[in-house]
Amino acid sequence: MELAAREQAESLARQEAARLAAEDVHGVALTWVDNAGLTRVKAVPTARLAHTARWGVGMSPVFDIYLVDDSLTTSRHIGGPDGDLRLFPDLGRLTVLAAQPGWAWAPVDRYDQLGAPHPACQRQFARRMTERAAEYGIEPRMGFETEWVVLGPNARGAAGGPGSAAAGEGPAEGATAGPADAVGEPRRSPPSPAYGMARLVELSDYLDDLLSAFSAQRVEVLQIHPEYAPGQYEISVAPSDPVGAADLAVLVRETIRGVSLRHGLSTAFGPVVEPDGVGNGAHLHLSLWRDGRNLCRDGDGPHGMTRECEAFLAGVLGELPALMAVVAPSPAGYLRLRPSRWSGAFHCWGLENREAALRFITGSPADPGGANAELKTVDPAANPYLAVGSVIAAGLAGIDAGASLPPPVAGDPAVTGGQSRLPVSLTEALGHFEGSAVLREALGEPLFEAVAAVRRAEAALFADATPAEIAAATRGRY
Ligand code: GLU
Ligand code: MG
Repeated sequence: MELAAREQAESLARQEAARLAAEDVHGVALTWVDNAGLTRVKAVPTARLAHTARWGVGMSPVFDIYLVDDSLTTSRHIGGPDGDLRLFPDLGRLTVLAAQPGWAWAPVDRYDQLGAPHPACQRQFARRMTERAAEYGIEPRMGFETEWVVLGPNARGAAGGPGSAAAGEGPAEGATAGPADAVGEPRRSPPSPAYGMARLVELSDYLDDLLSAFSAQRVEVLQIHPEYAPGQYEISVAPSDPVGAADLAVLVRETIRGVSLRHGLSTAFGPVVEPDGVGNGAHLHLSLWRDGRNLCRDGDGPHGMTRECEAFLAGVLGELPALMAVVAPSPAGYLRLRPSRWSGAFHCWGLENREAALRFITGSPADPGGANAELKTVDPAANPYLAVGSVIAAGLAGIDAGASLPPPVAGDPAVTGGQSRLPVSLTEALGHFEGSAVLREALGEPLFEAVAAVRRAEAALFADATPAEIAAATRGRY
């Protein structure tokens, strides 16, 4: 890393710190997401931000091989207690946190002590792949959806994780009781309806606080609505560049967590909350742009996409069995990925088909930004930086190969038949991942091996667990 760049960051950080101090912000949370999909943090006092921007803050590389339960594995290149990294905040993303008075947030890039990029830094991987797309003249625009289940106060012990963090604090002033159908609550009446207005009314103050927190943080929300499962809600935000989309996925989730806790509620972001129920997705929307033109439309490929967009999507679809180890990285994800759940269990694409893993959306002809593709198999355990980078790598490999899409699939393959399933277990996905030359090259050996090691270890961790045990051990961890 260039010294001049560090000096510049330091002087920018000094100005930002003065602004934060004037707003009574005393601490800055610096986050990155590990290979298991958990957001980890080091925080610094606001007064230390300028020093941190210049010199970074220390953190062990061992977090690259942490599992969902905070146990450790080892990988070929990373593991053990030795070594240290420096975390450098991206000040361009510095955000005052509306649901955590006194706190701001920024994502970090990870470097070694000498200023060289850490080869397993997931955020820099996402940036490298974005730069690679730029070499093709392609600017991807991406956005993650966020689905979560609101847990009532009585469900804290059952879910663990964020609930236990709030234990003993009691509901904040103006707290809202959990919805009657929250997971773990005694069911006195049938749950209120999926997508029902009743759900919005039940948590009206909470959802209003969420919207105002996002507005204060200048996060553009597109939609907020109750989802299918009991207590489940969804937020989608405006698309941005791939690294920005991954940063937003982190910020959106932590904002939801923060607002929920202030209402005495906790949250489940795991891929499955109840082992047999509909799970949480983190669907990834993407479109490809060149010179202000959306390559997902006005072309002579299927459903009006350009041939270049077709080749990109064909690359993603072709690599999807291997990509599953990135976008559905926990054994819990394979409890979610079942037919007829809109989670994309089948290895196919389709126009507006919610059962296809890859759903193509033409949007309104009048809306240039409307056409996009949605990868439905992504779940909230995925590291969003690994997800965006790996999807770009697979798409560009499709362009290199001049790939074309198979015919689109209409209807639910569970009913119509004829389509193969995507991997039905993490172990099966890992087998495809380990055989993927595309992902190995793109991620680079140290990151690829660390990801594979974490997948192998999580598969082993839950090898003898029942679906109920997997759901209970993971739903509150992300
Ligand atoms: N909750 C579903 C999933 O597991 C997605 C529902 C939807 O299409 O929004 O992915
Ligand atoms: Mg949804």
